[in-house]
This record gives sequence, C-alpha cells and structure tokens, in this order.
Amino acid sequence: MEKEMSLQAGNSPQGGKVRVRFAPSPTGPLHIGGVRTALYNYLFAKKHGGDFILRIEDTDQNRYVEGAENYIIDTLNWCGIPFDEGVGKEKGYGPYRQSERKHLYKNYADALIASGNAYYAFDTADALEKHRADHEDKGKTFIYNHHNRQKLDNSLTISKANLEDRLSSGEEYVIRFKSNSNDTMIVHDIIRGEIAIDTSVLDDKVLFKSDGMPTYHLANIVDDHLMEITHVIRGEEWLPSLPLHFQLYEAFGWEKPQFAHLPLLMKPQGKGKLSKRDGDKMGFPVFPLEWRTDEGEIYKGYRETGYLPEAVINMLALLGWNPGTEQEIFSLEQLVDAFELERVHKSGAKFDPDKAKWFQNYYLQQQPNAFLAKEFKKLLDKKHITTSLDLEVVVALIKERATFVTDFWEQSSFLFKAPIAYDEKAVNKSWNVETDKVMQALVIILKEAKPFNEAHISEKVKGWITDAGIGFGRVMQPLRLALVGEMKGPDVFSIMALLGKEESIQRIENALKRLG
Ligand code: GLU
Repeated sequence: MEKEMSLQAGNSPQGGKVRVRFAPSPTGPLHIGGVRTALYNYLFAKKHGGDFILRIEDTDQNRYVEGAENYIIDTLNWCGIPFDEGVGKEKGYGPYRQSERKHLYKNYADALIASGNAYYAFDTADALEKHRADHEDKGKTFIYNHHNRQKLDNSLTISKANLEDRLSSGEEYVIRFKSNSNDTMIVHDIIRGEIAIDTSVLDDKVLFKSDGMPTYHLANIVDDHLMEITHVIRGEEWLPSLPLHFQLYEAFGWEKPQFAHLPLLMKPQGKGKLSKRDGDKMGFPVFPLEWRTDEGEIYKGYRETGYLPEAVINMLALLGWNPGTEQEIFSLEQLVDAFELERVHKSGAKFDPDKAKWFQNYYLQQQPNAFLAKEFKKLLDKKHITTSLDLEVVVALIKERATFVTDFWEQSSFLFKAPIAYDEKAVNKSWNVETDKVMQALVIILKEAKPFNEAHISEKVKGWITDAGIGFGRVMQPLRLALVGEMKGPDVFSIMALLGKEESIQRIENALKRLG
C-alpha cells in the first residue's frame, strides 16, 4: 500500500532496470498489429536486460469479451515471446488486471482534485449533447475545456456547499482533468522526436466515473507509474493522448517514462489501416490464432493456417522497423540483438501477404525433417491415411516445393495412393505403341536391381537406356506417368526407391494394363 500511495514527486519510475509493458484491452482477438506492439516491447526489454510485463486493461466492462485474455496469453506463448511478469506471474507489482486494481485509482483522482488539477463535473449526457448541437448549429465544435468549463455544471462553478450536497446525495458525476491550455507544449517521442502541441485544443478528459471506474487515461498512467514502467511502446493511435499523459505526469509530479509510438499497419494497397475484414477479403490472416465469435464467425489465424511462429515474428519485426542493412532473415535472438527503437519508421507499414509467405517458405525449409514428418503425420491421420513409408524421407523429397505442411499432401499424395487415372494430355504425349515393350523391358531391369536404392536403380536404368539406345524421354516420361499419374513430382528414382521394388513394378504393370 505504501508504494501504491506514494504520490510525491521523486518516486522515480526510472530505476536502473528497463521495464516495459504490453497493455491490451481484452475486447476481442488480438490483431496482428497488437502482436507487433508486443514483439517490439519484448525485443526492447530483452535487448536491455529488462522485464516485459503483460497488463490487462479491462476497465471498460462493457467491451469485455470472454476468452480474449487467454487468447492474448496463448498468442504470446505461441509466438515465443512470453511475458516475464503479469497475470498469473506475480512479481510484486500486481495485480495485473486493472479490474482488480479498481480500489487504487480513486485516491489518485482525489489527489488531482486536491491539487487543483481535476474537478467534478455533473453535466448530464443530455446537457452535453445539447451543447454539442448548439455549437454545431453555429458551425463550431464543442470541446469541454478552458473555453467553457467556467460555464458548465462542475465544481469550478458551483459553491462548495452545493458540491458537497450533490456528492453526498449520490448524484452521478465524472472527474475531469483540468488540462493546461495556455501554452505550446513539447512532447517527446523516441521515434518521432519532439512534437509541439497547441494545448488550447485539448479537452478536459474524463479520468474517473462515479461508478467507481477510472477511464483508460487515469488507470494507464497510474499503473505505468506504480509498475515502474520506464518505456511506453505502443501503437500510433495513442499518440493523440500523449499531451494529456504528459500533463498527468506533471500534475502528479512523477517522472515520465519515455514514449515510443509505433507506425500503423496499413492495407496491402497502402491506403488505410489494416482491418480485421481485410484478411477475409484478401485471403490472409489478420489474427495470430483462430478466433470464433459467439455468432459463429471464424477469423482465420496464422497458427491454424500453418504458419510457423518464427516466420510470423520475422515478418512482423520488419513491418515498421529495419536493421539498416539488407539482412531480412532474423532469429529471435538476432532480433533482440539488432533491435533499436530509433530505427522504427514514422510512416505506416504496408502489410505484404506475399512477404509473409516468403518468410514462411524460408522457415519451413529450415525445419528438421523429423519435425516436419511429425506434423505431416498429423495431417495424414486426419485424412485416415496409414502408410509404411518413412515420412522423414518423404518430407525431404518434397519440401522444397512446399510453403506449408498442408502443401505436403498436394506434393506427395501419389506416394500414398497409386494412380487410378492418368493425365490425358501426358498420356497422349508420352505413351505410344512402343511404350509397352519399353516398359516391359524396364520391369525386368527393375526386378533384377539389388539393392533397390536410388543410386543403384538410377545407374542400372540409365545404363540400360544408353546401351539399348532407347532415348531417355521414352522411358522416363511413361515411367513418371505410371508412378505419379501425371508429369509432376520429384526425381523418378527417388520415388521408386521410396515406394520399393514391389510397389514400383506394380504401378508400371497397372499402367501397362490400363494404357497399353
Ligand atoms: N489498453 C490500451 C490498448 O488497448 C493500451 C494503450 C497503451 O499502451 O497505453 O491498446
């Protein structure tokens, strides 16, 4: 409690250790832009040997969505950027859900009233609406601030006795911040540098409501202070709040953290913010994990689409930041090493779905075959395919043509099921009157081949083709057709080695029966 109540100046949040927080509101699934915010916080914390804190900002109970908090935690874990401290990981600064810190905020609102930096306001929603409409009629915008606060229904304009009566009668009120309005204010952002703000247009934001709940602004500043946050790294959409937040720190007499506002993620065309609908429209995920709404809507997730977390992290890291070199491939450790807030861009970062796939393709190729085989096995199980083939060998053979594990099936289904039909065009082109004889001869060669491995059968068959002067195409094309059913797939000798002697010969004989 002592820490909680330490309102005096000099209780510095700028201790030695870097402490950053990711402070999402659990109002739905976390957008991929939110994941990037978390990532940049994580990278910055790790680079400086600091702590990455997860705080759940759930003061707005109307917007609370069941499951959203778990979704956030699952996302951070899946991405491999777990938080050091936060919900479920108490390190002396909790609780980490604002709804559980409710009892704290009123004292801070009261302190601002006592110091003349805030005031009670009783204006009803209807009264405010009327002011707005009147202003609009005159072509003006109504702002609750120094222009008119002296004319409105608040503790600056009513007597002390009246104020006490109204408070004790339980009348609804809000506490508003009395924003400074008579100067140009300079706010500092690590990415954007110094920004001059005309304070005369700032409004007196609501900090606290009579239902006992603080608004975002008050809770956020109080918690950043109490949790000794040293750097606030968040989305650009919060930049307009920065002057108020600066003024709040000054009003409390607290040392400010440093701020960094990250550029927005833009649609692939570059115009407008990347929205949750864009993914469905353009066929790429906008969410890290799949999310199902109560209404039965499904938003696709990177995880369920088959992306590897390494690919998502690498892609996100470069959406709005660059290392100053040509390097594009970064492991998480390398990102931690290279990351600098100063190299984060000011302008919006255009989301590029093709680049996302490019990273995925790269990371898929890097995975050990044992891992890929395991993943592929899960997919085969779902399809009720049982096989005696060595899946590690299968995967090694086909992965260069795949971006996702799901592509493995498309690339290798012929290995698990012998062709029952043959591509017509290919048949016309490669199976002619002499092919029967050639294939029958090939069967004899294969029967004799021992051991039946790729190197040996390749050597034997090629030797036979050369000696007999048949021409490679006349053997290899119908052979591929017999094995695969069409003119695709990896090297025929590796296919045969995988299928084994019996199955390979069986397939050639099937083709002879059907096409001969
Ligand atoms: N709760 C805010 C959000 O949902 C946090 C903003 C901040 O980081 O200050 O993004």
